[in-house]
Amino acid sequence: MSNLKSTLRKTLLSLRDALPVDVRSAQSQRIAESLLALPEFVAASIIHSYLSFGSEVDTEFIRIVAFRQGKQVSVPITDKSNPTLLHSFIEDTEEFTFGDWNILVPKEPIIESNFRTSEHDIILVPLVGFDRNKHRLGYGKGYYDRFLSKQDAIKIGLAFSCQETELIPTEPHDQALTMIITEREIIR
Ligand code: ADP
Ligand code: MG
Repeated sequence: MSNLKSTLRKTLLSLRDALPVDVRSAQSQRIAESLLALPEFVAASIIHSYLSFGSEVDTEFIRIVAFRQGKQVSVPITDKSNPTLLHSFIEDTEEFTFGDWNILVPKEPIIESNFRTSEHDIILVPLVGFDRNKHRLGYGKGYYDRFLSKQDAIKIGLAFSCQETELIPTEPHDQALTMIITEREIIR
């Protein structure tokens, strides 16, 4: 299973990395606009947004609009010792720095200690690959599987359509998404 996943991970990551920067940026904008128009997003008060890393779908514009709409925004912080995904609420003027694996994190995070399953209305999830069953392939460390299994929120995967594959191999711990938004469509 892990071999199947890791082969697929390499293939799909290289497809995503191969998207020219201007294409990635235009497609990210389209994905952001689809998300922003969703009734679920409009209704949401508290969202969790990953800070884009490498060739991931860019989430910056989404956070800008969310703040403008008065929403609360939190971002993930990895805890390698556990290993779990923690989070910190941010301000619209938040400053960031590079954390583990060179992923951006707030310079002065306020890590939530009273973790609640119903804390977020929407969680935006990065992914390496997906299929029509809304199964997700991550980077292979399972951080989001552990995090999402404890959250009641609407789980929205943001992806480029080139990351779709016929069948993502899954194990019992793998968490499916509520929906996936690509530059072409919304998969529910
Ligand atoms: P990813 O989802 O990042 O692509 P995997 O699904 O292959 O990665 O998970 C990576 C590792 O994390 C696996 O060894 C898996 O056993 C572990 N893992 C994932 N979720 C859990 C969980 N809820 N409890 C314990 N281990 C988990
Ligand atoms: Mg997984």
